[in-house]
Amino acid sequence: MALHTLEQNNGECTSPAAFQSLFLAYAILPFPFSESEHRMTARVLDGLKIRDQIFVELKDEIARLHAQGIRPGLAAVLVGENPASQLYVKSKIAACEQLGLASWLHTPLATSTTEYMLKLVDDLNRDDKVDGILVQLPLPKQVDTKKVLEAVDPAKDVDGFHPVNLGKLVSGREGLVACTPAGCMEILRRNNIPIEGANAVVLGRSDIVGKPMALLLMHANATVTICHSKTRDLPEVVHRADIVVAAMGKAGYVQADWLKPGSAVIDVGTNKVTDAAEAESLLKNFPQRLAKFREKGSVLVGDVHPDAINTAGALTPVPGGVGPMTITMLMSNTVKAARLRRAKPTAKAAL
Ligand code: NAP
Repeated sequence: MALHTLEQNNGECTSPAAFQSLFLAYAILPFPFSESEHRMTARVLDGLKIRDQIFVELKDEIARLHAQGIRPGLAAVLVGENPASQLYVKSKIAACEQLGLASWLHTPLATSTTEYMLKLVDDLNRDDKVDGILVQLPLPKQVDTKKVLEAVDPAKDVDGFHPVNLGKLVSGREGLVACTPAGCMEILRRNNIPIEGANAVVLGRSDIVGKPMALLLMHANATVTICHSKTRDLPEVVHRADIVVAAMGKAGYVQADWLKPGSAVIDVGTNKVTDAAEAESLLKNFPQRLAKFREKGSVLVGDVHPDAINTAGALTPVPGGVGPMTITMLMSNTVKAARLRRAKPTAKAAL
């Protein structure tokens, strides 16, 4: 998921810039557990490793497109001078460069109007060289964010937010899928975690994570339960799950003993814990992480309690699990958008 997807909630952008830094840290920090923390029993689902695999595959696909004279390209729109947004967009552009994708950075002034933004999006929609359009959020208050995002051509909507792409996902048709849930599916598939027939529980029903995640799992033939803040007896529901995807935004909320032993746990949550008592409680069995917290004054924790490493069969770490997959799937969506929109039919079939 692109950073700005983090800031969307039912079509409204709400999250502060601080959250961007958090996400950045989540995306780039190394794997959090040390070799000496040997009590872990779960298989660790390493997002960085999968990112590297996908990048290798993308390079092949990009080379095939190049052979047809197509260089996939991503246009990023960064309004104003939010340092966290700047850093995040920079990392997306760097990923494009690493893969040999074209990239363009548009930096309208913080005083830009909705009309200006709509005109810019329209120009990018019409530019054949641009395959993906990424509007970095938050946009300034005076800009109608929803209007701008919905103006993006669905064929170039590499964040997969557009209602047309959501509709395609619902009906199981090919389209551009939101990056974070798409990344979670890659983690499950590439680790050979059986999905068909599995009981999958998705914690959270946001438009950008929970709902698309549940749809992807359903299309992969899991039996899916979607939980939210009004769900009764969450521990019991979670306990029935072979696959748990936690996307609630609550540090360490899912307790280790809620999990069915051996279940696969995808922890989407990215929570910055700064309270010492909370960190001590969450990390009491992880002395090295706790020592780092004491040094830095903060630690990133997922929605699943770190002790789940002793109950789950497989688990994504935070950071280093789902986080790196978001930018990876953004790159993947950009290449896919180029292929779907521009590649010759014969080459499409071969790709
Ligand atoms: P969101 O829009 O705030 O949605 C949170 C969801 O969790 C809501 O559906 C909410 O239910 C549900 N929820 C909250 N408390 C609950 C409870 N006690 N029991 C059951 N469900 C509960 O959040 P989001 O954008 O989907 O993000 C979720 C988390 O994923 C956040 O920590 C975010 O930082 C992280 N994230 C990470 C990445 C990444 O790339 N790593 C990307 C996206 C998001 P209601 O609908 O009833 O309110």
